Amino acid sequence: MIYRRHGKTREKLSIVGFGGMRFKNIKDRETCVGMILEAAKLGINYFDTAPKYFGIKSEQTFGEAFKELKKQNMPFYSSTKTFETTEKGIRKELDRQLKRLGLDAVDFYHIWSVTSLDNWRKRKRDGILDTFVKLKEEGLIRHICVSSHLIGDDIKELLDENIFEAVLFGYSAYNFSIRHKAFEAIKQYDIGCVVMNPLGGGIIPQHPDIFEFIKEYKNQSVVEAALHFIFSHEKITTALVGFATIDEVREAVHAVETFKGADAVHINKIKSEATNSFGTLCTGCQYCDNCPVEIPIPKYMEAYNHKILYNSNKTILDRLKWHWDIPKEIAGTCIECGQCEEVCTQHIPIISRLKEIAEL
Ligand code: SF4
Ligand code: SF4
Repeated sequence: MIYRRHGKTREKLSIVGFGGMRFKNIKDRETCVGMILEAAKLGINYFDTAPKYFGIKSEQTFGEAFKELKKQNMPFYSSTKTFETTEKGIRKELDRQLKRLGLDAVDFYHIWSVTSLDNWRKRKRDGILDTFVKLKEEGLIRHICVSSHLIGDDIKELLDENIFEAVLFGYSAYNFSIRHKAFEAIKQYDIGCVVMNPLGGGIIPQHPDIFEFIKEYKNQSVVEAALHFIFSHEKITTALVGFATIDEVREAVHAVETFKGADAVHINKIKSEATNSFGTLCTGCQYCDNCPVEIPIPKYMEAYNHKILYNSNKTILDRLKWHWDIPKEIAGTCIECGQCEEVCTQHIPIISRLKEIAEL
């Protein structure tokens, strides 16, 4: 296993982390706990959960595994999150989480899923930052972190608060272009960076034909290639993989073993070929993100990608609701000025896709 310093937290994290949101059968507690223990034996030391993953079952499962890891004197880091914003709400939730996890403190506690700057400003007005600082002073959390779906300048603005010790966001060979700005702040403030969905939320392994171009050699799996893409980024501490089975854990650990260091030529080739290889998929470049009626076009087009890849309208709606937290109706406010289509690097028929989304 390879370990990296997690920014200013100075903790040493494994470059693969265990995400607890995709267990194949969470009711089979013994198997799930076994997966976590096996991952720890293989060198993974970062374990991430949340209070709404499988209800509270994910946190409970990690709680059982942590008990065993403590018994065996094996080192591990815990990571979880809260949607609560008020001091009262956060304290109540954290108290429950610590009980479920069987811990005295959470190592990495996240302000969960900042989806817009407005949403962030509201949480700040509720006093979320002061509460997190107090919790840290009281020793109930060890590091103040944030998870976010913001993109472009917005994610940089969030990180420019310079309060966060670590950040968690989605990043992969599929959508790397939407968050490259975050790394300016990460570098400037020495913020630890964990990335979720390094396999594009399953898109990469499910579409090996589309992602053939990310491979370093012919017989390599796209999973290994996608993880190497993440490992190659020196500012990313950990690729957080949501494991469903023990085989997936082993596959990710194998990818660490075969990683021989960043190959700048190959990474640049992936970045330049992505534009050609994605066909009519939105690459998230954001050139169109200047709509006169303020439609967040890249977010809608990213959601539409899921229809192309999975041939299902429902995936668009799920993506808008659960990932981007924006209503489909805004798509219907387009005045068809055409400005976005003129600049789209992929020549995507944005207007008709927006109409389709609005009509769903
Ligand atoms: S065509 Fe519609 S979505 Fe595109 S910039 Fe104009 S108003 Fe916005
Ligand atoms: S310009 Fe085209 S490819 Fe780039 S974000 Fe907008 S819709 Fe997507």
